[in-house]
Amino acid sequence: MKLFVIPGGAFVENTYILSNESSNEVLLVDPGSQTDEIEKQLNDLKFSTMKIINTHAHLDHIYGVEYFKKKYDALFLIHELEVPIVDVMIDAANRFGLEEFSNPVIPEIDEFIKDNQEIEVAGSKFVTIHVPGHSPGSLCFYFSKKLNPKIENEFIICGDTVFAGSIGRVDLTGGTNMNDLVGNIKRRLMVLPDETVLLPGHGPETQVGVEKQSNPFLLGYE
Ligand SMILES: [Zn+2]
Ligand SMILES: [Zn+2]
Repeated sequence: MKLFVIPGGAFVENTYILSNESSNEVLLVDPGSQTDEIEKQLNDLKFSTMKIINTHAHLDHIYGVEYFKKKYDALFLIHELEVPIVDVMIDAANRFGLEEFSNPVIPEIDEFIKDNQEIEVAGSKFVTIHVPGHSPGSLCFYFSKKLNPKIENEFIICGDTVFAGSIGRVDLTGGTNMNDLVGNIKRRLMVLPDETVLLPGHGPETQVGVEKQSNPFLLGYE
């Protein structure tokens, strides 16, 4: 298993690529507007099929979906509760008015995924964890040792739920409130082993134990 992070765009959004040459498949998580950089990494990899799975549907995470879906005939999976955000993608792009979000195309969803669903892709397995608050259908993807005995560290691709020293905004489309998001992060993510690596949708990676001890948002709310 190889995991790559491709940060890019005005919001420095992290797209993740998981590849496994023996399975001939790649997983693309949250392809944003940095399509050239993502493409460059994909060109170095050997694969014949691609799946695109999103943590959520905010524009900086979904803008590139249609491009890669079309180019690689990929399937696109996301939580059903994100549909209203997918549907307003063009309004969001017009609102930002940035060159990188020009000519947005709403991607067709091939499959809905829900909480606690086990998914096998690119020779690896993960389970989904629904952590709403930043958006209604925000999902985290947990690659555990139980599901992947060969991995060195357990990790979670956690979208915009929790960041190193921060948490997702709750004032964007589909957000609820701080108490809700913090409660869900604590209940669903902070119960996992301290050494679990968190790979957020923006910024550097961190660990469950580090955030539990020092994230001011998690310490300040009950
Ligand atoms: Zn977001
Ligand atoms: Zn984001």
